Amino acid sequence: MKRSWLALLLASFPTLAQQQDFSKVEIKAQKVAGSVWMLQGSGGNIAVSVGDDGIVMIDAQFAPLVPKIKAALARISKKPVRFLVNTHWHFDHVGGNAGMAETAAILAHENVRKRMLAGAEVPAFKLKIEPAEPRALPILTYERDVTLWLNGEPVRALHAPPGHTDGDTVVFFTRSNVVHMGDDFVTYGFPFVDLDSGGSVRGMIGAIDELLPQIPPDAKIIPGHGSLSTVADLKKFRGRLDEIVALVDRGLKSGKTVEQLQQEKILAPYEDWNSGFVKADQFIAIVARDLQQKK
Ligand SMILES: [Zn+2]
Repeated sequence: MKRSWLALLLASFPTLAQQQDFSKVEIKAQKVAGSVWMLQGSGGNIAVSVGDDGIVMIDAQFAPLVPKIKAALARISKKPVRFLVNTHWHFDHVGGNAGMAETAAILAHENVRKRMLAGAEVPAFKLKIEPAEPRALPILTYERDVTLWLNGEPVRALHAPPGHTDGDTVVFFTRSNVVHMGDDFVTYGFPFVDLDSGGSVRGMIGAIDELLPQIPPDAKIIPGHGSLSTVADLKKFRGRLDEIVALVDRGLKSGKTVEQLQQEKILAPYEDWNSGFVKADQFIAIVARDLQQKK
């Protein structure tokens, strides 16, 4: 399996393609709890903490949306965005970085900066993620975690073990009782797991297992993509991933090929996830490749 899954992502999810028309996109803001709001437009969900100390922002969608994001924020708070945390390096989460950098210090796990700096080649689709411009790069990186003490609550950005990518961060708004999961939790269907960026399906399950005991049961969960969720939704997502990995593992161990498992439609019980941009057959292949790669 030489084909890059990032290429697959770009090819099969037109709303992520860089030539997308953003003029029709509306940024909708929703109060979540405490000082936290969630903003949805196109790309990854944005979370913000607002208060007297200024705005702490999580993820920044796409560059062309920055004026609309700023307008939506201005309706919530008169204060500037002082900090921007990236949950991972994908362009639907960091695209707005440069546009926010005038007031905001950008923070991320060190692998986010490395991957943004390097860019990525996707020869199968003649696509290229260009190295990010200097202004877009995180200026403060961490290996494990960092805590921002603003708006009366510690906002903790914690690096999760490799799951969606190898630079994932989950953000805890500790007093507001809200967690932004990045793309370790999405509600659009089979999750995209970027094996070429150091991600792992088994790693994603392990990351959720490590995080769950740290999340209060009544916390509000902001997924990387999709609508506001609960801890129960996150647990259900994790349970399904675990079942799917076991199914694919069993199939491979019985000597079947990925193609056979696809033909047998072993993921038919998860048909409701097939409406997302990652299809069942693609997910079987991702899981199989993950199982075959060394840990
Ligand atoms: Zn992503």
